[in-house]
Amino acid sequence: MKRVENYIHGKSQSSSNNFLDVNDPSTSEKCAEVVLSNKNDFNAAVISSKKAYLEWSNFTPLKRSRILSKYKELIEKNIETLAKIISIEHGKTLDDAKGSVIRGLEVVEFSCGIPHLLKGEFSQNVGNAIDSWSIRQPLGITAGITPFNFPAMVPMWMYPISIACGNSFILKPSEKDPSCSILLAQLFSEAGLPDGVFNVVQGDKDIVNLILNSDEISSVSFVGSTPVAKYIYETSAKNGKRVQALGGAKNHLVVMPDANIDQAVDGIMGAAYGSAGERCMAVSVAVAVGDIADKLVENISNKAESLIVAPWTDSSSQMGPVISKEHKDKIENYITSGVEEGAKLVLDGRNFKIQGYENGYFVGPTLFDEVNKDMKIYKEEIFGPVLSVVRARNYDEALNLVNDHAFGNGTSIYTSDGEISRHFTTNCKIGMVGVNVPIPVPMAFHSFGGWKQSLFGDHSMHGTEGVRFYTKLKTVTSRWPKSIQKGPEFKMPTN
Ligand code: NAD
Repeated sequence: MKRVENYIHGKSQSSSNNFLDVNDPSTSEKCAEVVLSNKNDFNAAVISSKKAYLEWSNFTPLKRSRILSKYKELIEKNIETLAKIISIEHGKTLDDAKGSVIRGLEVVEFSCGIPHLLKGEFSQNVGNAIDSWSIRQPLGITAGITPFNFPAMVPMWMYPISIACGNSFILKPSEKDPSCSILLAQLFSEAGLPDGVFNVVQGDKDIVNLILNSDEISSVSFVGSTPVAKYIYETSAKNGKRVQALGGAKNHLVVMPDANIDQAVDGIMGAAYGSAGERCMAVSVAVAVGDIADKLVENISNKAESLIVAPWTDSSSQMGPVISKEHKDKIENYITSGVEEGAKLVLDGRNFKIQGYENGYFVGPTLFDEVNKDMKIYKEEIFGPVLSVVRARNYDEALNLVNDHAFGNGTSIYTSDGEISRHFTTNCKIGMVGVNVPIPVPMAFHSFGGWKQSLFGDHSMHGTEGVRFYTKLKTVTSRWPKSIQKGPEFKMPTN
């Protein structure tokens, strides 16, 4: 049986004998086991990261950037292998897995430009013969805790930038699909990264708590569910750490009566059912404005009925299983609760079976119509292939739905009216907004992050926000006054 260990100081190692099963969601069979690290493993990672930081932070930014360029090449060469590892343990289709690696790779590409991004600011003669400049310096040991749904992309939102900035980084991946973190770390070593700059410690919440309470770790980046994000934020802040904690979502896609309905339906299909709805930017609510609702529901239902649900090994698959038996049960319970609360179940994905894969964690595409804002299926994140259609009488009602929801990750509007679209992008209380684009995930050189219960902390991820998060600002004021001797001054110096 394959064992997924830690990757510490350039090699696979762990002292814990405690292992957790990793299951293939398409079959429910065990495909690996992952070590649940103990305190010794964690301490080994911290000692290694501390030593590595001293050396790495003194590398010139250009040397760091060259290693990242080599890393980019190696990821490109290994993209098929990485995607396959993700599909086996996560269940998503191979194309989707590959796409997610490419989106992570874009952050590596962005980080190759780090000499430019670390340039500071300089002011000559802020006083008589006095110059002043600001520089950004690394934090030290940084840590990342990541969710199951993007085992390559989400860690890559974090560590390439942190490491490019001169920090060392400890990754605690999801215990549900841990294997690709090891290949990502091995490839970085192969690219020339000194041992210990990137360590991977496997495990569950016990390791997370060691990270949050370690005096040696200066910052925590987290992506996962909202209750855990809130806990990470509060505990890290209490312990004096810099923290960014991204949480869950309930993304609304507003369809105006003047929208191109075919485009809107295609957009909704991919965004609601792609990756079995297990994306933080998935669309889980379609807000149908005015008289477009009947047509919209009918067209989505027709397309969803013929969606190909199959394991990743079937190249025609458009949607795979969800991550676990517990998660499948949770999603099916939400569907039952929607029925009980009076929503109209147009397509029911419960008890979905595929011949030969009867034990797989498959949930069929599910569609609810006539959902209202008091229902549990509207208020809570389901994180599965369940789309709720809410009918709104007009644009103002649709905007209020978006703004009154507790989550604020992403939203989108489909319309052919520029004025409405501008009003929406200006006035919605959401971090990432699309216009006629279903999943407005920012590119690596912009920053990713929601508002409200979707992000705790002050910084989004990657882009210049990432560089700011992983560096501390220092401002130097300097004088070389060979000929100036004024004696001590006791008032505030002014010009
Ligand atoms: P999760 O919160 O269960 O787990 C995330 C990480 O936290 C894992 O590494 C896990 O081991 C650890 N963890 C779990 N429970 C913990 C606890 N009690 N104390 C400390 N650590 C704990 O999330 P998940 O199920 O892996 O991922 C799905 C969630 O992630 C969804 O809510 C989704 O919306 C969210 N997500 C958000 C974004 C975003 O950018 N906002 C991106 C991807 C996923």
